[in-house]
Amino acid sequence: MGVRVGVVGGGQLARMMIAPAVELGVEIRVLAEQDGMSAALAATRVGDYRDLDTVRAFARDVDVVTFDHEHVPQDVLRALEAEGVQVHPGPDALRFAQDKLDMRARLAELGMPQPDWARVTTLDELQSFLDDHGGRGVVKTPRGGYDGKGVRVVGAATEAQDWFTALAEDANGGALLVEELVDFTRELAQQVARRPSGQIVAYPVVETVQRGGVCAEVIAPAPRADGRLAAEAERIGLAIADGLGVTGMLAVELFETTDERLLVNELAMRPHNSGHWSQDGAVTGQFEQHLRAVLDLPLGETAPVQPWAVMVNILGGPAQGSLAERFADAMTRHPSAKIHTYGKAPRPGRKVGHVNVIGDDLDDVVYQARAAASHFVD
Ligand code: ADP
Repeated sequence: MGVRVGVVGGGQLARMMIAPAVELGVEIRVLAEQDGMSAALAATRVGDYRDLDTVRAFARDVDVVTFDHEHVPQDVLRALEAEGVQVHPGPDALRFAQDKLDMRARLAELGMPQPDWARVTTLDELQSFLDDHGGRGVVKTPRGGYDGKGVRVVGAATEAQDWFTALAEDANGGALLVEELVDFTRELAQQVARRPSGQIVAYPVVETVQRGGVCAEVIAPAPRADGRLAAEAERIGLAIADGLGVTGMLAVELFETTDERLLVNELAMRPHNSGHWSQDGAVTGQFEQHLRAVLDLPLGETAPVQPWAVMVNILGGPAQGSLAERFADAMTRHPSAKIHTYGKAPRPGRKVGHVNVIGDDLDDVVYQARAAASHFVD
C-alpha cells in the first residue's frame, strides 16, 4: 500500500496537490467542508474540521495530515499530535499563521523586520498608536481574515468601533492588531520549503500584484530585485521557517518600502497563490514540494525553468456557462498558456482558476498570460 497524505480543507490548494501526488504515487485523502468542492477529485470525506472526533477519524486512514487552510483549531491539532499523528505543519508553527498578534510578537523575538505594531484592546490605546504614527494605521482582526477581510485602514480609532464592540461580546476577550500604514512601492512574496528533518530550500522572491485585497498577478522572479534584495528576502524566509519550525511550504508576504527595505506582512504555512507560477515555471512546483516536505522526502530543485514566469488569476469567471466552454478560444490564441481550473462555480471576485505563462521576454509573457486569462472573464 502506498503512502497516504490527508489534506484538511477541500479548496483549490488541496485540489492542486492531486496531480503531483498521482505522479509520485502518493494517495491524497481530503476532509472537505462540504460536497462538491474543488478537491472532490480525490477520495473525500465531508466533515467539520473543528470537531476532534471527525478529524481524528480522518487522520486514522492517512500517514500524514496537512492543510489547505489554517483554520483547524489548536486543541484539535494538539490532541492529534499527542495521539502520535504526523501533523505538518504542526500546531507550534501553525499558531503563528493563525493569529497575527502571535505572529508579530514571535517575529519581533526573531528580530525580523516588520511594520511598527501594537496590541490594542481599547479605543484610547488605538488612538494613541495612531497619534504616534501620523494619525493613520491599519487595524486587523488577529484571526480569521483572508483576502483583505479583517483589514481596515483607519484615520481615527472610532472607525474600528464595531470591531471593539465585537471583541467586548466575545467571551474569550481578545485584542486587535494595529500596524503603521506602510508606504510600500510593491508587495513581494518569499517561499521556502522545510522538511521535519530540517532540510530547507528557497524559491526565488516574486512580485505579487493585489487588486481589491485579492492577489491578481504574480511575476517570478520579482523584476528589479537586485542581488541584495533577493538575498534579504531569502534570508528572511529561511530564518522564519527555521525559527518557527515550519514543515511544508511557507510563504512570507513582504512589503518593499520606498526606502528599499523589506518588512514582513504575513505568513501562510501551505502552498500559496504567490507560488502557483512554480507549477509550470520551476523545476519543482510548490504542490509537489509541499508533499515531499510533509512526507520528509528529499526536496526538489526550486530553480526557474525559464527566465520569467507570470501567473494571472481568473477572478469571477464567465457570467454565463463554464470555464471549459472558453477553453477552445483561449487555447487557440495562446498555445503557450497553461490553464489551471479549480472546478468552482463562477461568482464575482471568486478565484476560479489561473493561467501560467513562462518565457524569456517578460513583456510577451505578461501579455500572453493576461490575454489568455481574459478569455475566461466577461
Ligand atoms: P489578509 O490576511 O486578508 O491577506 P493582510 O494582512 O495580508 O490581510 O492585508 C491585506 C492587504 O492590506 C495587504 O496585501 C496590503 O496591501 C494591505 N496592508 C496590510 N497591512 C498593511 C500595512 N501595515 N500597511 C499598508 N498596507 C497594508
